[in-house]
Amino acid sequence: MTQEPHEQIFADALKRLDRAAEFADLGKEVLLRLKSPKSVLDVSIPVRMDDGSLQVFHGYRVRYDDTRGPTKGGIRFHPDVHVGEVKALAFWMTCKCAVVGIPFGGGKGGVIVDPKQLSRLELERLSRGFIERIADFIGPDTDVPAPDVYTNAMIMGWMMDEYSKIHRKRTPAVITGKPIPLGGSLGRDDATGRGAYYCIKELERIRGWNPAEIRVAVQGFGNAGQHVARLLHADGYRIVAVSDSHGGILRPEGLDVPRTIELKNQGRTIGAVYTTRSVCECPVCGDEDCHCNSDDVGSGEVISNEELLELDVDVLIPAALENQITAENAGRISAPVVIEVANGPTTSEADQTLNENDTLVVPDILANAGGVTVSYFEWAQNQAGYSWSEDDVHERLQRIMTQEFNTIYQLADDKHIDMRTAAYVHALNRIGEAVEAQGTSRFFAPGDNE
Ligand code: GLU
Repeated sequence: MTQEPHEQIFADALKRLDRAAEFADLGKEVLLRLKSPKSVLDVSIPVRMDDGSLQVFHGYRVRYDDTRGPTKGGIRFHPDVHVGEVKALAFWMTCKCAVVGIPFGGGKGGVIVDPKQLSRLELERLSRGFIERIADFIGPDTDVPAPDVYTNAMIMGWMMDEYSKIHRKRTPAVITGKPIPLGGSLGRDDATGRGAYYCIKELERIRGWNPAEIRVAVQGFGNAGQHVARLLHADGYRIVAVSDSHGGILRPEGLDVPRTIELKNQGRTIGAVYTTRSVCECPVCGDEDCHCNSDDVGSGEVISNEELLELDVDVLIPAALENQITAENAGRISAPVVIEVANGPTTSEADQTLNENDTLVVPDILANAGGVTVSYFEWAQNQAGYSWSEDDVHERLQRIMTQEFNTIYQLADDKHIDMRTAAYVHALNRIGEAVEAQGTSRFFAPGDNE
């Protein structure tokens, strides 16, 4: 039976589970429990538009597994949101939280909308309307949302406020990734990119890299992509290409990353929610209509997102959406190292090709776990009424990322498996311990050959 592509993402996500189970110390029950989500909420959200008309949007919130703690995971606003995709994303969150050892299970939410088509007031009404619909489902000790694709701190602030109004009690710990004055944590904004950066610093140490010789391409120049590029550039890495949904720019000598970020974010007036410029509209590509000063960036060549993935670089960082490296293009990926900052950028079929070609893939559930790790710090600060310094957050994040990276790297080496499988084995062992602690048939029916 052929599956609808978005259901296929979920089926594909579960394949990683089966493969990892061969190497993990698991009872059958753990696998059985992880094959389907705990609950799926499907909502409609009526929104009064600025012109007086009514539009009804659709959204989902999936709580995948809460054995290790409240379910945790972002809310995305995107026209292609589908329940199958949200289930896959919630499953990945479950594994991600276990990989970094934070006391959360996994969840995810999504609303089918192109948020760039909405006015700011419409966006606020939609954000509050979604919370109104899921307010009985979420909570600081049950399910804790956060930002994801096309949602940000301001939206999290609206959502926290709406939840607090409904429950008539200020509840900052219901959501993370909030603006700092509304209970957000210092260091949350760049945490996803920074977590990936700490993984790369470990590879640098293990492989003896000289940053000046390492050419990096970044697909996706949103929050995570921009920060990882900025941090690597500051350490002397050569960021030769970046792209966003409109296309990319290539400059073999290396891009001036801070300037590229500035140009991309130009047109973003204070308080605006979305960036209107693209990296390939700026003068690095020689756009005739562009009035910016290109001298300090240098000229670059416009390339497509597909071309960026296949560039001859040392490190490729997919930081956009799912299903970018597929069976179709995996054979043409020439970067020997792929750092998955996006969730699910590589399909399981593509995994095989990358493994055959000895490509080292630092998987999403490890490489992008910095975001949820600092979300945990934010939640803990909110629950306890503390406020940690940025240095404190960075230091704690670095400690966790470095430790988990090395554990997984070592596990991969010891068991002769790829890093993705090793990351799932590590996650499954932690989830398995929690499931076993509640008693499984090993305990209740010891005669059974469980
Ligand atoms: N959306 C982010 C992720 O996919 C962050 C989730 C969170 O902080 O809860 O990891």
